[in-house]
Amino acid sequence: MYKVYLKPGKEESLKRFHPWIFSGAIAHIDGKPEEGEVVEVYTAARQFIAKGHFQIGSIAVRVLSFRQEEEINTDFWRRKLQTAKEMRRSIGLIGRTDNNTYRLVHGEGDNLPGLVIDIYARTAVMQAHSAGMHLDRMAIAEALADVMQEEVDNIYYKSETTLPYKADLFPENGFLRGGSTDNIATEYGLKFHIDWLKGQKTGFFVDQRENRALLERYARGRRVLNMFCYTGGFSVYAMRGNALSVHSVDSSAKAIDLTNKNIGLNFPGDERHTAFAEDAFKFLDRMDAQTYDLIVLDPPAFAKHRDALHNALQGYRKLNARAFEKIRPGGILFTFSCSQAVSKEQFRTAVFTAAALSGRSVRILHQLTQPADHPVNIYHPEGEYLKGLVLYVE
Ligand code: SAH
Repeated sequence: MYKVYLKPGKEESLKRFHPWIFSGAIAHIDGKPEEGEVVEVYTAARQFIAKGHFQIGSIAVRVLSFRQEEEINTDFWRRKLQTAKEMRRSIGLIGRTDNNTYRLVHGEGDNLPGLVIDIYARTAVMQAHSAGMHLDRMAIAEALADVMQEEVDNIYYKSETTLPYKADLFPENGFLRGGSTDNIATEYGLKFHIDWLKGQKTGFFVDQRENRALLERYARGRRVLNMFCYTGGFSVYAMRGNALSVHSVDSSAKAIDLTNKNIGLNFPGDERHTAFAEDAFKFLDRMDAQTYDLIVLDPPAFAKHRDALHNALQGYRKLNARAFEKIRPGGILFTFSCSQAVSKEQFRTAVFTAAALSGRSVRILHQLTQPADHPVNIYHPEGEYLKGLVLYVE
């Protein structure tokens, strides 16, 4: 196995179990590992400290184990997946009759950096975000099929857009096990078509489940506007929560189709819902003030990288300012950011600035984050990415 030697003192974060080794921390590498190979990492004093997937880029090694004797093989993946499954079972997400939609593996949060696995009814959608997870996909699929044999019949691999381009990996999306096209999954008693073939991420935004359930509690008698609706998740919950009307907006016509399908699946013929394929900013500009008393703003990550931070914060300010201007008095605003590069404080400041611009009195009712099946590894605080505020606007 290739050995990576760190510069003096660069093992400190590893001693605190941080799972990333940046390329700048490396003094030299014995030999020339291929991208995605497992390498051993040593301190400047030649002591073993970790092993993990090697990759060319700012994060050079993603740690899989801090134990030298632990081999990375099918048994390793089986143990890790079993641990992830036990956690979901112990918090009551597996084994419910009203829910078969959850995240089984959340990268660093499950000590598996670069790997995401979402479960949709009898199908697991597996996504690699690192060259190493891609190379190990077959062993992981084998372990997954074992660990989830009661729950899962199909494993779909979907990494064409999540892997580093330059690594020449040429990933192909497709089934590694099974092949059922039955794609209806249940989330807290509501049904959703999951488009793992063409949809964003693994086909659905599992991470908003608890926040959607919270919205349901506030929907009664309100006129709801769900901006950036994608599959219409928030809209479907608002319908069940007895909203007076629900309007869903997304610039993608495909998303609008999906939303209409999902509304139809749960509330066929219900005329309270209308969907609009339109740019969110344009929609907010042209709509009359006081039309809505519950607005959801769940935009895509405005900052995918740190260098886009300034523009992203401006985007959040602009978007939220329009909502504050137009929401009915006594209205409730659910506003989110899923950009990892934007901190909780920065997002708050952007929303507060927007509120101040409108001059309205605003109270924070809830501070939201990602759900328990998207856990944050305590040694990897960067894993906290979803931020939300629920605000009461006088
Ligand atoms: N709220 C959704 C997830 C939103 S994902 C859920 O709970 O599942 C972000 C969505 O924003 C995508 O569907 C994308 O098509 C849409 N989008 C991106 N830019 C947009 C814009 N300028 N106006 C409207 N929608 C936009």
